[in-house]
Amino acid sequence: MATAIKAPRILVVEDEESIARPFAEALRRAGFDPIVTGTAAGALELAESAEPDLVMLDLRLPDGDGRDVCRDLRRRSEVPIVMLTARGTETDKIVGLELGADDYVVKPFSAAEVISRIRAVLRRAGPVEPMARGPLRAGALELDPAARTARVGDRPLDLSRKEFDLLAELMRHRGEVVTREDLMSRVWDTNWFGSTKTLDVHIGWLRRKLGDEAADPAYIETVRGVGFRLVAPEGEEP
Ligand code: CA
Repeated sequence: MATAIKAPRILVVEDEESIARPFAEALRRAGFDPIVTGTAAGALELAESAEPDLVMLDLRLPDGDGRDVCRDLRRRSEVPIVMLTARGTETDKIVGLELGADDYVVKPFSAAEVISRIRAVLRRAGPVEPMARGPLRAGALELDPAARTARVGDRPLDLSRKEFDLLAELMRHRGEVVTREDLMSRVWDTNWFGSTKTLDVHIGWLRRKLGDEAADPAYIETVRGVGFRLVAPEGEEP
């Protein structure tokens, strides 16, 4: 049976099964399409791949702080975020909202109450733009994360998987320094620790393909001892 209207997809980020499971069930009964993850890494991945209409985000996750996840999501998308907090102190509320969360819920909560809050947030947000999956641009450089294609002007770039992911990560944070450690853990391995030599090698390859030079970069700038920054080409930004 086909339905005319797609059920809003809610990404529930909560590691406590005793909360996540019944809440997902309540969401489903209320006509939503819930997906659940118990980790910060899972949240970031699913926020991108599953294109949720709203994210319910627990503050304390086994592999990270919900506030970092919130900040990261907000940098990349306008998806509404409702923070779940067990603490309920004034500071937590303020911090959550300052990070760009749309609302917060203090645990323990009633599913009915939260669902009405979710409806209100979705109403306020209006039609949701999916997670930024459209092409990323910087001057003549264009990268399409969904199609996994990249080009400079009319020239297609033939990038390896890692080169592509690396460039995408830098373009998502265009104008900001992305640390070596963040690049290693996001592009290579979430549990990465150790040498970043492989990163330099890949940056070198990427620059060659972009026609970029380390000494006078048009795109990828080295921030010594810290990381790399995708620079905005001249004339395009103030
Ligand atoms: Ca938790």
